[in-house]
Amino acid sequence: MRALTYQGPYRVQVEQKPDPRIEHPQDVVLKVTRAAICGSDLHLLHGLVPDTRVGCTFGHEFTGVVEEVGQEVAQLKKGDRVVVPFNISCGTCFYCQRGLTGNCENSNPGSDVASGVYGYSHTTGGFDGGQAEYVRVPFADVGPMKIPDDMDDESVLFLSDILPTGYQAAEMGEIKGGETVVVFGAGPVGLFAMKSAWLMGAGRVVAVDHVPYRLEFARKFANVETVNFKEVDDIVLHLKDMFDGRGPDVCIDAVGMEAEGSRAHRVLGLGLKLEAGAPTVIEWCINTVRKAGNVSIIGVYGPPWNFVPIGTAMNKGLTLRMNQANTRRYMPHLLEHIQKGRIDAKGIITHRFPLEQAPDAYHLFAQKRDGCVKCVLMPHG
Ligand code: NAD
Ligand code: ZN
Ligand code: ZN
Repeated sequence: MRALTYQGPYRVQVEQKPDPRIEHPQDVVLKVTRAAICGSDLHLLHGLVPDTRVGCTFGHEFTGVVEEVGQEVAQLKKGDRVVVPFNISCGTCFYCQRGLTGNCENSNPGSDVASGVYGYSHTTGGFDGGQAEYVRVPFADVGPMKIPDDMDDESVLFLSDILPTGYQAAEMGEIKGGETVVVFGAGPVGLFAMKSAWLMGAGRVVAVDHVPYRLEFARKFANVETVNFKEVDDIVLHLKDMFDGRGPDVCIDAVGMEAEGSRAHRVLGLGLKLEAGAPTVIEWCINTVRKAGNVSIIGVYGPPWNFVPIGTAMNKGLTLRMNQANTRRYMPHLLEHIQKGRIDAKGIITHRFPLEQAPDAYHLFAQKRDGCVKCVLMPHG
């Protein structure tokens, strides 16, 4: 089959690989219908995720049709259409029983940090991902959700990750009604965090980014106010002023480790650059939020970004929450929001490509060009 694979920092290619097969009786193999590229894939592309091996197939946001079924699989049969959560979870361990599928301890045994994740390096189990013609899905009775007959794959594709992730970001902010919220990052995750904040009853939502077309997209898609942090002198003071000098109740970090202008950021083609002084988005969140407020970190961080101003957070009495999204627990609820028309999940897709053009799609998405918000690959047209 054809698959998008890692070739080293900044390099991906589409190549021929053996078809995946049933390796365990609880597996299915899917014929992939749609596979999206995520901001998390850019961390892989940029070589920032430890133990990303050459030849690994990326892709953790996908839908597909069941092609082969393992002997112990009870819920799925050949021909079923499914959307698959990005975290691989066993359904029975300590964490899965508590709905914390992003912390499953059986899908990536030996790691005390991450559950198994499709296409996300050997740090998360070394599973091949779905940016390919076919993909193996372990624990097939646990993760995959059948797609209702009257819905197309793209309408539910983002239940695999970014919609539940944005929703969990808002939930970790403890938005219950009337809260003021600042979302850093107007990418796909930030957009769904904004939509979710409104659904949970937020009183005011402000998006911060520096890419003008993304801020414009956020205004239209999520009906938020926006601030371009490159157009103000001091983003923290500017935001505080917007909220009575006190700051908002909740700050959400939907940017992660490659924040533009941050203390540690990537210089195109030159790898990682560390700078003293300029803050990470976590620091912006901690400094901006009001005292006794909530900071929700859904952006992904790796070891070089361990700059957390814990003293400020302590003295302000903040609540800090963060996690990999526990995708599966939110899927049925969010499916209902999509069906009732409250979230147009498909509406963030700006570009579609055949699998063969996946490397172009990566570079377009990474460089934030041509109005690109979300790229979707179509491995079988
Ligand atoms: P993206 O790259 O499309 O979006 C990030 C946005 O942040 C961009 O629009 C960029 O211009 C903006 N940005 C850059 N620096 C900024 C700064 N200093 N302040 C404000 N905005 C800034 O990525 P995405 O797909 O939206 O993902 C966002 C983050 O969420 C990534 O780190 C990704 O890895 C993470 N993520 C986490 C989970 C999880 O389970 N925790 C799941 C999915 C994605
Ligand atoms: Zn993702
Ligand atoms: Zn588990």
